[in-house]
Amino acid sequence: MPPSEGDVIEIHSHRMPILYRRHARARNYVLRLHFTKTVIVTIPRQGTKRFAREFVASRKSWLEKQWRIIEARRVPPHVLRPGMEILLRGQPVTLELRRQGQHWHLHFGAERTPVANSDGNLRPALERYLHNAARVELARRVQELAREHASIVKHIVIRNQKSRWGSCSCNGTISLNWRLIQLPDYVRDYIIIHELMHLKELNHSPGFWREVEKACPDYRVAEKWLKRNSGQVGF
Ligand SMILES: [Zn+2]
Repeated sequence: MPPSEGDVIEIHSHRMPILYRRHARARNYVLRLHFTKTVIVTIPRQGTKRFAREFVASRKSWLEKQWRIIEARRVPPHVLRPGMEILLRGQPVTLELRRQGQHWHLHFGAERTPVANSDGNLRPALERYLHNAARVELARRVQELAREHASIVKHIVIRNQKSRWGSCSCNGTISLNWRLIQLPDYVRDYIIIHELMHLKELNHSPGFWREVEKACPDYRVAEKWLKRNSGQVGF
């Protein structure tokens, strides 16, 4: 039998390695396209690798269909390009690339950050920059608001959270999503105050909301903004 290591099949012009697995209990040849884009063939005890190879070749259109299913399921990497808009501190800003000598910079609003090249996805550079900026700005704002509302914050963590704005733990840690830097100031402040009030009451009881309202009388306006505009945040 010819060496099988290194068998590949071309699916939609992608070369996919084929792995053969012999299973004593398998009754039939079984074909699977793994999401890592590897073709896996199970060979039954009485089977041969030669037949397995023919089997793979004969199921090529089935593999192509599986490949399309896998591709469709993958969340498309959201590519950010020059000319696109993001929200920053409540204002839409346009992403612009500018060249300075050998170097490229991403400009947006009053900010700028270097990028490695001019034709890639701007997302990594932008996220890195905003996450760092959020670390400084949000920490400062938490301290200011904590002083104003007589709260004691022991630790502030700025996180990359997908679905929450912030959280708070009973040991005095406040965690905030770096995307808070995208919100209008009064909405950002409301979220911080909300978490500060949780340091006093770790629930959403009427008592908790009374405290929130005392500290942030317009909190309902901020809540409304979040309901309407959360979709614009993140990019
Ligand atoms: Zn809450």
